[in-house]
Amino acid sequence: MTLPLRPELVGIEPYGAPQLSVKARLNVNENPYAPPAAVTDAIANAVHKAAMTLNRYPDRDFTALRADLAAYLATESHVDFLEVRNIWAANGSNEVMLHLHQAFGGPGRTVLSFAPTYSMYPEYARDALTDYTTLPRKDDFTLDIPAAVAAIADKTPTLVIVASPNNPTGTALPLDDVRQLAEAAQAVPGGCVLVIDEAYAEFRRRGVPSAASILPEYPNLAVSRTMSKAFALAGGRLGYLAAHEPVVDALRVVRLPYHLSAVTQATARAALAHSQVLQAQVGEIRAERDETVQWLRDQGYTVADTDANFALFGPFADRESIFKGLLDRGVLIRVVGPEGWLRVSIGTPAEMALFRAALLEVTA
Ligand code: PMP
Repeated sequence: MTLPLRPELVGIEPYGAPQLSVKARLNVNENPYAPPAAVTDAIANAVHKAAMTLNRYPDRDFTALRADLAAYLATESHVDFLEVRNIWAANGSNEVMLHLHQAFGGPGRTVLSFAPTYSMYPEYARDALTDYTTLPRKDDFTLDIPAAVAAIADKTPTLVIVASPNNPTGTALPLDDVRQLAEAAQAVPGGCVLVIDEAYAEFRRRGVPSAASILPEYPNLAVSRTMSKAFALAGGRLGYLAAHEPVVDALRVVRLPYHLSAVTQATARAALAHSQVLQAQVGEIRAERDETVQWLRDQGYTVADTDANFALFGPFADRESIFKGLLDRGVLIRVVGPEGWLRVSIGTPAEMALFRAALLEVTA
């Protein structure tokens, strides 16, 4: 029997990195610390309460959760502009991104991003029947802003997406660059939304600002975040976005009804109520990240400057064999980025000790 599969899906494997039970899982940029007991207790209580109402559909506008997200982001990014109407959320920032494509992409339209970057970007575009095009980043993985501004004028995309900090390189986008891109996007006839994907924002180094801080100035700017990383809630599936109200209103049109379950809403709110405890763990991960980068550089490797909870390092003549050697020693990292580079997520001090020992052995 022949299935009428869309031609662009024929032979395509579903996206996903290996989920292996090994000593050090350092391949998908998860938070290595399980939520602390205070958080798991709060989640359990909140979910228990939500369970008593599961015969009813959840609040389809998730107003209480949006208020909590607005309050958190206002404090985290020092922006006093955010209200419920400026916040959107979905099952992971992956779904937020899909909503953006469903609302602002579509046949005959183009989304522009900057390679190397997050490998799901072309998939959202494909699934929303949108053309996907990239400009190369510079050798140090920063953006070539004059080239980006020219490309926005030339290709007239309806969406421009920049991950900051970028995955897999860790590169953060300076505010001045965000402004130049937002202004170039504003000049596109018919409009263009600039999305800054800040999935890893909480791990940024001191003094590195969030694009959220200039949201009030740009009606075509959207900042996407997630609870998967800093909040140690990858399994909870909650991503969110902040923008001016018309952007959020557009996303409300394309979402499925009741897309955020009552369990998800309760879980996310309980975790948000404990953001300070979770921030302490973020601090530990940042310190471990800086030590890992320094150690790799001391070994003679090139490491991209990183504001995220991972580091891209190299070069390796045969990165596959290094990946395999590490895996044989119980350390799972990721073969991603330009040829010759590898990415390691930052784990606990014990996991990073395993990583260092394994790398020394493999390269001895
Ligand atoms: N954006 C970037 C840059 C990411 O690396 C990831 C996850 N790896 C996501 C978005 C999606 O994360 P989630 O759906 O868990 O929020």
